[in-house]
Amino acid sequence: MYKQYQLVPTYQDMLLVPQYSDIQSRSEVSVQTTLGDNLVLDLPIISSPMDTVTEEEMLVAMARAGGLGIVHRYNTVYEQSKIIARTRQRLPEGHIGAAIGVSGDYLDRANALCDAGARVLCVDVAHGHHLLVKNALEELRNVLGEAVYIIAGNVCTLEGINDLADWGANAVRCNIGGGSICSTRIQTGHGMPGLGTIFDCARTDRDVKIIADGGIRTSGDIVKALAAGADAVMCGSFLSGTTETPGQIYPTSNGKFKEYRGMASRKAQVGWRGKSSSPEGVVSKVPYRGSVADILSDARGGLASGLSYTGARNLTELRAKAKWITQTAAGAIESGTHIYEKK
Ligand code: IMP
Repeated sequence: MYKQYQLVPTYQDMLLVPQYSDIQSRSEVSVQTTLGDNLVLDLPIISSPMDTVTEEEMLVAMARAGGLGIVHRYNTVYEQSKIIARTRQRLPEGHIGAAIGVSGDYLDRANALCDAGARVLCVDVAHGHHLLVKNALEELRNVLGEAVYIIAGNVCTLEGINDLADWGANAVRCNIGGGSICSTRIQTGHGMPGLGTIFDCARTDRDVKIIADGGIRTSGDIVKALAAGADAVMCGSFLSGTTETPGQIYPTSNGKFKEYRGMASRKAQVGWRGKSSSPEGVVSKVPYRGSVADILSDARGGLASGLSYTGARNLTELRAKAKWITQTAAGAIESGTHIYEKK
C-alpha cells in the first residue's frame, strides 16, 4: 500500500511556454536577486561548498561575476579561515560565504570564519531536516545573533523548509539526491525530483529564500528553477572543470581533465576524515573548460534570454508570468540538441 504516491517532475520533464514579449534588448532584463537586506546578487548563482569546486579562486570569480561562492568545510578551521581572510583582502566589498557542519568544531569554525570576514554561513549537511540541524541553528543564532546570514539544508519538502526557517535559517538549499555526482537515491531509496522539490518548497509562507541545489545542467535549468520559485541556484558540475576550481589539470590523449567529486564519495570521505561509510557520491573526471567567467557570462546571457521568452523583465515577473507544460520522453529528446544522434 502506498502511503503517498504522486508524480513529481524534474527539469527535463517540463518546459516554459514562450509568451508575447515587448523586451527589445537583453539589457532591459535584470537577473538580480535579493537574498537578504545586505545580500543582493546580480547573478543568482552560488557555487557549491565542495572541495573540487570552491576555494579562494572560485570565491573571487563568483563574487566578481555578481554571484556568491561558499568555501567548503573539508579542511581545518585554520585553513578555511585563511581562505576567507585572503579572499576578503582581495574583495573588501564582495559577498563571500563559508560552510560549516553541525557537530564537533562547528561553533569554533563559525566564529573563526566570521572573524576572518565571512558574512554568509552555510550549515552544510546531506539531510537537513534533522534534530542536529535544529540544535546547530539555534546555537548559532544564540552565539552570532542576526548579523550573519545563514543558509541551511538540504531539504526536499515544504515541511523541511518551514522547519529550517523556524529554526533560524535565512535561506534553504532544496533538493535531495539530485546532484550530478550524487548516489543518495541509489544507496538509500530516498529523495525527490529536483524541479518538483522547488514547486513544493515555494509554497512556504515563511520569510525564507529558496536555493535550488543540484541537478542544474544548463542555463535553461536555471531559468526553470527560478520560474518555479527559487531565489537562486547552487551549482557544482555546472562550474566544475574550470581554472578556478581547486585541483590539478590532468593532460591525457583525449584532452585535459579535472576531478569533480561528491563530498560523500568514498574517496572524499577518506580524504577528509580518514575513513568512509555509506558512500553516497561518486568521483568523476570532467573536461577542463577554461575560465569560469566565460561560463558565468554565457549563463547570464541564457538567463536574460530566458526571461525575455516569458516576457519578464526581472525574476518576480518571471515567477508571476511563467506558464508550464510537461513534455513526453520523446519531447525531452527533441529538446536536446539532437543532430549528434543522427545516423
Ligand atoms: P551538481 O550541481 O548537480 O553537480 O550538484 C551539486 C550538489 O550536490 C551540491 O551542492 C550538494 O548539494 C550535492 N552533493 C555534493 N556532494 C554530494 C555527494 O557526495 N552526494 C550527494 N550529493 C552531493
